[in-house]
Amino acid sequence: MTTWIDAREATLPEIAAFAERYPFAILPVGSFEQHGPHLPLDTDNRIAERMALETARRSVGMVLPVLNVGYAWVWRGHPGTLTFRFDTYMAIVRDIAESLAGWGVKALFVLSAHGSNPQLVKHAIRELIHERHDIRVLNSLYLGLDTMLAEAQSHRWANDIHAEEIETALMLAIAPELVHMERAAADYPPVPDDYGRSELSMGHIMRSGVFGDPTQATAEKGRRWLETGAARTAELWLGYLARHGLYRPEGA
Ligand SMILES: [Zn+2]
Repeated sequence: MTTWIDAREATLPEIAAFAERYPFAILPVGSFEQHGPHLPLDTDNRIAERMALETARRSVGMVLPVLNVGYAWVWRGHPGTLTFRFDTYMAIVRDIAESLAGWGVKALFVLSAHGSNPQLVKHAIRELIHERHDIRVLNSLYLGLDTMLAEAQSHRWANDIHAEEIETALMLAIAPELVHMERAAADYPPVPDDYGRSELSMGHIMRSGVFGDPTQATAEKGRRWLETGAARTAELWLGYLARHGLYRPEGA
């Protein structure tokens, strides 16, 4: 038996046998929201899903279907946005964790490709899941961004990445048919002093919807960054499982 499975394609006997041996799940979480004129609304979901599959291949666990609506409050009112409220999102994460605990899953990795999600997941774990002793939850954005930012040829907008070089490169590696490079253009919206210190969000100051320079993106960088991200994320997950005495790879 391989140490990972795509749960979406598994049958009842397959998932039951897998969960018995490897009671670990990876939930990719993304967002359905604008990514400018050159990337699709589904961008974060595609990245989350692929990062989860690549992470699982390098570690252990069943990859669940992507939770494809996230916390996208900043884009509310902009066409294409779907967002849950803060408390709705927390309740969904709790319900998924409880569903899994109900059939014996011991650890869940909520793996995000959307920057606003981990904060809510953190509170869901603390406030809603902490009293359960039958399932542990690890929560993180995919790792490797520091390396990707260091290797990127464009500079970062403020403190965020959105529809710029990194996301565009990852999408060129994952779903090139959905990337319209002929429409990609750099955009660095000015940052008011109270940005991040008031209700002002990216949605208020956006222009094209891009924050950075997507024109520097290539599929080759995307493939390399996907590899870096998945390798580092798998290491985090394996370390977490080992520290809690849940799993150690054979021969390790
Ligand atoms: Zn995104």
